[in-house]
Amino acid sequence: MSVEDFDVVVAGGGPGGSTVATLVAMQGHRVLLLEKEVFPRYQIGESLLPATVHGVCRMLGVADELANSGFPIKRGGTFRWGARPEPWTFHFGISAKMAGSTSHAYQVERAKFDQILLNNAKSKGVVVREGCSVDTVVEEGERVTGLRYTDADGNAREVSARFVIDASGNKSRLYSHVGGTRNYSEFFRSLALFGYFEGGKRLPAPVSGNILSVAFDSGWFWYIPLSDTLTSVGAVVRREDADKIQGDREKALADLIAECPMISEYLSDAKRVTTGKYGELRVRKDYSYQQTTFWRPGMILVGDAACFVDPVFSSGVHLATYSALLAARSINSVLAGELDEKTVLTEYEARYRREYGVFYEFLVSFYQMNVNEESYFWQAKKVTRNENTDIESFVELIGGVSSGETALTAADRIAERSAEFASAVDEMAAGDGDNMVPMFKSQVVKQAMQEAGQVQMKALLGEDAEPEMPLFPGGLVTSPDGMKWLPYHPA
Ligand code: FAD
Repeated sequence: MSVEDFDVVVAGGGPGGSTVATLVAMQGHRVLLLEKEVFPRYQIGESLLPATVHGVCRMLGVADELANSGFPIKRGGTFRWGARPEPWTFHFGISAKMAGSTSHAYQVERAKFDQILLNNAKSKGVVVREGCSVDTVVEEGERVTGLRYTDADGNAREVSARFVIDASGNKSRLYSHVGGTRNYSEFFRSLALFGYFEGGKRLPAPVSGNILSVAFDSGWFWYIPLSDTLTSVGAVVRREDADKIQGDREKALADLIAECPMISEYLSDAKRVTTGKYGELRVRKDYSYQQTTFWRPGMILVGDAACFVDPVFSSGVHLATYSALLAARSINSVLAGELDEKTVLTEYEARYRREYGVFYEFLVSFYQMNVNEESYFWQAKKVTRNENTDIESFVELIGGVSSGETALTAADRIAERSAEFASAVDEMAAGDGDNMVPMFKSQVVKQAMQEAGQVQMKALLGEDAEPEMPLFPGGLVTSPDGMKWLPYHPA
């Protein structure tokens, strides 16, 4: 069998795989992407965050295409959650820190969104082969040196590369070749049952594109508008209530909807879609995990292949595209002969784990709110010491932290906003320990908020972005164009 050679081979053409492949090809390297399915294909994970839309997608060069694709605009979230009986809404732009043209994300049909990213990869020089299923890795001693795959005609093929990326999502077993174990969360042990409806009600404008999340006795529902008429509806059920989604899925979903008055009302005139890619009722379980190592020589895990937290607050595509950006920087630095593999991949793993940890910590406290009578909103107001209502205070915190973005908006205001945001974070992080919202006790949260602001700043300002500090002692900083790592030399 002849063996083809590339600089990088990527398994999986979801948001993680397309992003890393594109950002490496944009530096002039030879990249092959192998995708098992033929796009467009179905995927769950439809609610995006501003970090993806205005940060990574801008770097990829698809921000304008996304804006012109007719995806519903998500200005924030509406929640019936916690002790408060009425729904409450947060807007990404409610805070002065997040106001402006980058204060929204989109709700996307993943078949369309992922196709846009994959087409963009092709147009930026990535060799994309669909219908090609990766079977295993090729190893030489400690190092992974390539992949074996079955092509669209059923032929066994082999490719060698300096770097192999596993971006094949949560179902593939390719990740196991990196070593270590996949540890499943003891906390997030829920199951999800989901389907699609035509004709569901909408929140009133201007928040009709918001995600609606509604807690009820057995768990919570997501309700995501994908067009004027199509809605993605999913029930996330606690493990103890797993029997509620066993057996007939149609009946199980109908019973869960009946348990939840708000979702029942929103779907009162709707019909479940029963044909096409949205016709199936799907179940996902055991989706919260992290691998004990994210890389070995020659191989890197990106996106869901490495870790996933939980659907609430829609962090999945953000973590996939953000980790892809970190991986691309690492590969670009090594292929340019500027840094060694161990140094860049240590930075990669540390930053990706930190971002994952932020969401993990935050989401644990968010679920605690659901079972605890204590007023979480009141705590947020105390931490921020502002004149807003409790809910607005909460929104200011989660608007920056849950998305991992400072949502900086205009190029001429970015540096000023960044400094303002960093000092607000400093103040919160240095605050009164006993009365702080739990996630703000963590240094890791503070670092991630600052890094997230830098990602978007790079996307908007490019060469003019402010110089950075390493996030870890002895760590690296990003190059001015955001595409590589640089050693840090204090002035
Ligand atoms: P994927 O999107 O899974 O892409 C992996 C690709 O690899 C696929 O195209 C697959 O066909 C391909 N592949 C698999 N095996 C092979 C192989 N052997 N060879 C070649 N190709 C292969 N995230 C959000 O951002 N917002 C949400 O609202 C949201 N809701 C969610 C709800 C639930 C119930 C769950 C479980 C997750 C949700 N997520 C959400 C998470 C989101 O689905 C994922 O985090 C995201 O899709 C990860 O992207 P990825 O590129 O890592 O993997």
